[in-house]
Amino acid sequence: MTAGNAAIDLAERRVEQECAAGVARIQAAIRGQYQAVEVTASPFCECGERIPDARRQAIPNCTRCVDCETFIERQSRRRA
Ligand SMILES: [Zn+2]
Repeated sequence: MTAGNAAIDLAERRVEQECAAGVARIQAAIRGQYQAVEVTASPFCECGERIPDARRQAIPNCTRCVDCETFIERQSRRRA
């Protein structure tokens, strides 16, 4: 069944193209978020602790240090 194989080839090629386009979109979005973090977000937590750059890049618009984030997460989990 060559017709079936051709259809599968076509489908695989389409998936590859769509994946490549998706990856490019995601990379562009990540780059945009990284720039936004560098420009707008304060590198300091509300407690005065400096938020590490790696953490700010991993979590865009993150405004809390690890200690505060963990503390608040525990509180909200207890409430829920
Ligand atoms: Zn903090």
